[in-house]
Amino acid sequence: MTKTPHAVVTGGSGFVGSHLIDALISDGYQVTSLDNFGSGRPANISHINSDRFISIEHDVREPLPDLEAVDYVFHLASRASPEDFESHAVEIALTNSQGTHNVLSYAHDHDAIVILASTSEIYGNPEEHPQHEEYNGNVNIRGPRAPYDESKRFSEALGVAYQQQYNIDIRTVRIFNTYGPRMRPDDGRVIPNFLSQALRGDDLTVYGDGTQTRSFCYIDDLVEGIRAVANAPQSAMAGEVVNLGSTEEIKIEDLAEVIIEVVNPDCGVVYQDLPTDDPELRRPDISRAGELLGWSPKIPLSAGIKKTIPYFKTEIDAKSFVGND
Ligand code: NAD
Ligand code: UDP
Repeated sequence: MTKTPHAVVTGGSGFVGSHLIDALISDGYQVTSLDNFGSGRPANISHINSDRFISIEHDVREPLPDLEAVDYVFHLASRASPEDFESHAVEIALTNSQGTHNVLSYAHDHDAIVILASTSEIYGNPEEHPQHEEYNGNVNIRGPRAPYDESKRFSEALGVAYQQQYNIDIRTVRIFNTYGPRMRPDDGRVIPNFLSQALRGDDLTVYGDGTQTRSFCYIDDLVEGIRAVANAPQSAMAGEVVNLGSTEEIKIEDLAEVIIEVVNPDCGVVYQDLPTDDPELRRPDISRAGELLGWSPKIPLSAGIKKTIPYFKTEIDAKSFVGND
């Protein structure tokens, strides 16, 4: 009989982490979630009814708890909303440095495979478009986003250090803007903001002139990509980095129109200041993920938005969401 693989997921009660856990449980893994519940919520994992799942409240800035044999560590812990980059700056910077160190040393001790969550933010305000993994980015190391994007760059670099020195199997995923159910309505990112505003009948807040672009990936597609990375043979993925995201690029002003049309045509748009260092363009080059994993996203933006609305509607009707702490 083959042993049940054990995966530790840091940030498991967050948006991406909780969906990943659903997939790992259905794939037959034993899963341990480690989360400090800073931006994640117990409600995101309360539906999981499996004796192969446990949730431990733990902050990855502290050494990881002693657990039985661990085969995989998915390191997703980190606040990810630009609204938190200033208010939780030190926490974020340390989560992606000291926290990543704790995760990598733990994986080394357990001889586990690491899937490290990086971000398109490491490309900063890109001068190359679309962004290929070989592009080194254009990041303001002293700007308000630096606690997040520079610490994610360091997190990747620490992964390279562990690989070089200890030869452990680290697979890095650069995640581009992803959305779907279980994002907090008050998360501050654009799709939760726009959906909450439209459902409440408020005008949508477009920052700047709305011509900046993003490429939004539905959560199920992202989880398929992360799964493919974890399942890929060592020869293909160990030490590799791949972009995971949608190539359907849209201006933020057009995203507002899509959401207004689908959710509430009575809403308008109000323009507010563009945050400092807000990237002007963002779209992943996903050819590497295609070649290495045969992965590409399947769910168009309009379909993904429609799949996301019922969750936000329930949340807003129940007014049950918690605020940023
Ligand atoms: P999220 O805020 O919903 O989830 C993050 C989780 O990490 C939360 O449950 C939070 O409580 C937990 N956490 C934060 N700091 C921690 C710490 N020090 N110790 C333990 N737990 C901690 O955000 P998300 O969108 O699910 O992001 C998950 C990961 O994916 C992050 O690493 C983020 O950088 C990355 N990512 C996400 C996106 C996206 O569009 N969703 C894009 C790029 C990268
Ligand atoms: N944005 C906006 N209105 C909002 C929230 C965000 O216009 O209410 C813009 C933001 O300035 C950025 C884009 O939407 O240009 C995506 O923002 P988000 O915070 O979702 O993610 P980012 O890609 O900036 O990390």
